[in-house]
Amino acid sequence: MDTPYKYKRHYIECMSGWLKLYQPIIDDCNAAGVEIRQVKEKFAGLHIQVGDDAPTRIVHAIRNARIQSLRVCEVCGERGEPRGRIHVKTLCEKHAIEHAISGLDKYRHA
Ligand SMILES: [Zn+2]
Repeated sequence: MDTPYKYKRHYIECMSGWLKLYQPIIDDCNAAGVEIRQVKEKFAGLHIQVGDDAPTRIVHAIRNARIQSLRVCEVCGERGEPRGRIHVKTLCEKHAIEHAISGLDKYRHA
């Protein structure tokens, strides 16, 4: 799937393991002309903020994506679970260990 250049902007603040969750919503917003304000991780889940004029199907898709994201590693897209005490992130076991040892900054969007 090719991402239009204008949707590769700074408002995507989560890592690409969740791409399969947020990309269909971005595409849908693009087709419907709905503004995308922010795509980020919040309380271990995928948080997508869109314009107030978003149709109900997009609002539902965003809610579903958030629920699904709590079982998908934010780094790699494999099965994950919320981990950590202070800043909880949804990660697989491998990336939870890496997160604890060296951090995950290298996976962030440039
Ligand atoms: Zn992972």
